[in-house]
This record gives sequence, structure tokens and C-alpha cells, in this order.
Amino acid sequence: MTETAEIPREALNMPSRLPKRRVVLAWDMHYSCNYRCPYCFYTEAGWTELAKKSTYKTAEEWVEVWTRMHEKYGRCQLRITAGEPFTYPRFVDVIEAVSKLHDIQITSNCSQSDAMRDFVERVSPEQVELDCTYHPLQGEFEPFVDNVKRLRGHGFTANVCFLAYPPQMKGMAELKERFKDSGVYMNMAIFWGRHKDAQYPQAYTADERAGIKAVIGSDISAETVGLDPIPINGKICGAGQRYAVVQADGRVYRCGQLGYEGMSIGSIFDPGFELHRAAKPCSVDFCRCKEFQSAWEDTDIKLLNEKGKVRA
Ligand code: SF4
Ligand code: SF4
Repeated sequence: MTETAEIPREALNMPSRLPKRRVVLAWDMHYSCNYRCPYCFYTEAGWTELAKKSTYKTAEEWVEVWTRMHEKYGRCQLRITAGEPFTYPRFVDVIEAVSKLHDIQITSNCSQSDAMRDFVERVSPEQVELDCTYHPLQGEFEPFVDNVKRLRGHGFTANVCFLAYPPQMKGMAELKERFKDSGVYMNMAIFWGRHKDAQYPQAYTADERAGIKAVIGSDISAETVGLDPIPINGKICGAGQRYAVVQADGRVYRCGQLGYEGMSIGSIFDPGFELHRAAKPCSVDFCRCKEFQSAWEDTDIKLLNEKGKVRA
């Protein structure tokens, strides 16, 4: 038995302590990042063009926007992605202020050590959690894991995720062990996108699929969701009602898959903005549901995670 085998599993992958909220909003704070991951949707879409949508506001201005949403929907859960959130100007000021109104989950590449040192001193781990995505083609292991441990040392729920992108899949089992030796569980994420003119996840070979499942350690689980796209067939979905995506220019969309020109349901900067009052049918064939699960009923999420399917 290795030394780390004695670390209880809950010490490796930390359960979220944030309560379930009626409304979950994904918030793309800005389209800017210090990395250029080849699998990134934004790298593919073009950072220069996307950056024109970034709307930089002060902490005070964001408090005004998010107070309005608090008055309408109570305390929500905001899931901040960005680009890289910690490169947003006065990011810690924004989070310190907005977390008094809403719970926050931040996805970060954990490369901004100075900002993270400031963050752990000023932000409450009761209201803010982190998803730390490791990008081995861009960043080094040690500073990344040191920042994860710093967050945990200050009481934050901070979990690690690694993307099963074909060029970085070799050695993923060893990487998972390396994280385990540092007391951290490595969650696998499934790649949805194009690589070498092939569309993923459909293009994963049988060996690649088996390799991913072996690293995860199970055939069906919350981590394998997305490996086999599930037909949606007009499913009634709460995206737009209990879940929505706020892009960097303030435009709001039902979900990331319906986040294109002409599909916006309003602007977060409009004082009259409201979410849909009822769930509506979905218009796409397949859902990247791992990402947007908050839009679904609990029973659907359970069925998907445990059986790998959804209700018709
Ligand atoms: S760190 Fe994230 S946002 Fe930045 S390039 Fe990589 S995937 Fe994109
Ligand atoms: S793509 Fe998924 S989250 Fe978006 S509306 Fe369809 S089922 Fe809902």
C-alpha cells in the first residue's frame, strides 16, 4: 500500500458545499487568457475577434448588475469561466463583492499565483469554490498543484480536472497517480470539438474510449457523461429558465450550445431582463449536458450519471 492510498477519497475529490440554488448562471467574464490551449473553443473561434465582446466593469458596477438579479431570483449560483478569470482587472475585488450576493464557482487554469494569494486572504470559502483545470501543453505541474493546495489550505473546495484531448491523453493514468500522490483526485473531462478534421467525442477510437474509462475507473459515471452523445429529441429543458449563460458583452443565452448570434434571450445590463418563466423544448440534436446539467431536472441528471441515458 502506498502512502497516498491511505488518504481518504473525500480528501482527494472534495464534494461541493454550495447549496442547490433555484437559478444557475454561467458567466463568461471576459474573452482573454494567458494560455492558448489548442482545444479551447475560444482559440478556435479567434481570441482577437472575441475580445471585442469583453465588457470591463468595476466591482461596484458588477454589484449593481448582480444586485438586480438577486432581487429577482434570490441568491443564485454563478459559474465563472472567462477565458482565465484571474486575469480580469480587479478580479478579487469583483469576487469579494459579488459573493456577498451570490454563490460562485470559478473555473481557472491556476496559473496566476499572485492573484490567488490575494484571493485566499480576502474571499470566503463558504461562498466560493474552484474547478482547477490542468493544461499540460501550457502549464507546469508543480505550480499548478501548489495553487490547488494553497486553495485547499485556506478552506476552499478546489477540485482538479483534465481534458481527454487526444494529443495529451498519453500518460493520463500516470498523471492521475501523480495528482493522487499530491492528495488530489483528477477528474476526467471529455473533449467536444475538432481535432485533425475529426469531430469529437464521436471520433474517439475504441481503444481511446476504453483508456478513458480505465483511468476514470468505471463504465458509467458523472465523468463518462459526454463520451457518447445522447440524442435530445426535443426534450423539455430548463435552460433559459433555471440556467443561462451570460456572455462577456452581457448578452444572455439559454445555454452554451445555443450561444450564437440571434439566439440571445436578453442582456444582463437591461434592468428589465427576465429569465423564461417556463422550461422549453431543446432545438439541438445532442446536448453537452455535462456542462449544462443544472438546466435539467434532478431525476434526469441522476439517470444520466448512473445509467448513461435520459428520459425520452
Ligand atoms: S486555459 Fe482555458 S480559457 Fe485559457 S486557452 Fe486554455 S482552455 Fe481556453
Ligand atoms: S443543448 Fe442541452 S442545455 Fe441546451 S437547451 Fe438543449 S438540452 Fe438544454
